[in-house]
Amino acid sequence: MKATITKSTGLWYNAIVENGTVVQCRLKGKLRLDEIKSTNPIAVGDNVILRLDHESNSYIISEILDRNNYIIRLDPHKKAYTQVIAANIDQALIVATANAPRTSDGFINRLLIICEAYHITPIIILNKIDIYTNKKEIDKINEWHHTYTLAGYKVIHTSIMSKEGIADLHTILKANINLLCGHSGVGKSSLMNIIYPSLGLKVGPISAFSNKGKHTTTFAEWHTLPDGGAVIDTPGVKEFGLANMEAAELGGYLPEIRRYMINCKFTNCTHRNEPHCAVISALEQGLFNPARYDSYISMMHELEDGLEKWEKK
Ligand code: GDP
Ligand code: ZN
Repeated sequence: MKATITKSTGLWYNAIVENGTVVQCRLKGKLRLDEIKSTNPIAVGDNVILRLDHESNSYIISEILDRNNYIIRLDPHKKAYTQVIAANIDQALIVATANAPRTSDGFINRLLIICEAYHITPIIILNKIDIYTNKKEIDKINEWHHTYTLAGYKVIHTSIMSKEGIADLHTILKANINLLCGHSGVGKSSLMNIIYPSLGLKVGPISAFSNKGKHTTTFAEWHTLPDGGAVIDTPGVKEFGLANMEAAELGGYLPEIRRYMINCKFTNCTHRNEPHCAVISALEQGLFNPARYDSYISMMHELEDGLEKWEKK
């Protein structure tokens, strides 16, 4: 029987079967994918085959079907090991706010890189559009809109107060497996609840302490949507993904760089100080936002430093 994993916390997993019921299941023996240095072989979103074990009268995962994609993070407890957070994701909703809490460009840019690297379509949701009154916030929203639209991403503006963008978001969500990303307090739960009241997600106050809120989820949480598909709420995404990336791959994950780099003189151009770099000249012509280039440079440094920082921990 085919099923999709909806909860993965240890020995036991929850899986939703085709008729919508959720059953508990577990791995038996050594199905562990030993070639992957991963501390969890099965993740939320994995499609599996279950069979009923008559001896124990429980479901056993007998096969994991090939993944379309998956995201990983470094295991916080086991150095150099990774954890698969979620698999088979159609798109990632990156919810950002210009205030209360303020989302940084770096946060958005990093998530976009991760989406590109794992073949997940990102959609940028600029939420709380009702609260921006000062020029700085309005400018930020306009800048994000312009920058990310220019890069080729879909950007929508939403508000649970004015209902702007809510119908669009509903259309985007339904029948897809959506990864929900963004700082605590940006309105992820509120947006889901306004579209799907039956989900009843917990809405929290914005933590006054950091103004960025706290993220308490440690495992990915799956919420089946009433009209098909699901939303996967993820734990802190800071540790995601860049872990296994080569510095040389990075440029290919920014659409603006990808667009121009084929014209660079050197095929191994890192778009920094090499002569006849088409990316630098596109930048000089104002063809993309310098802040995106800056974030490329800082992520490049991070990758070149490699696991160094991680090992110091
Ligand atoms: P989450 O941590 O990302 O799930 O954020 P929540 O959904 O818990 O929302 C945090 C706070 O922001 C709550 O007090 C919500 O009422 C508020 N909020 C969410 N969306 C909006 C919005 O579009 N406009 C305004 N004014 N407040 C919002
Ligand atoms: Zn170049």
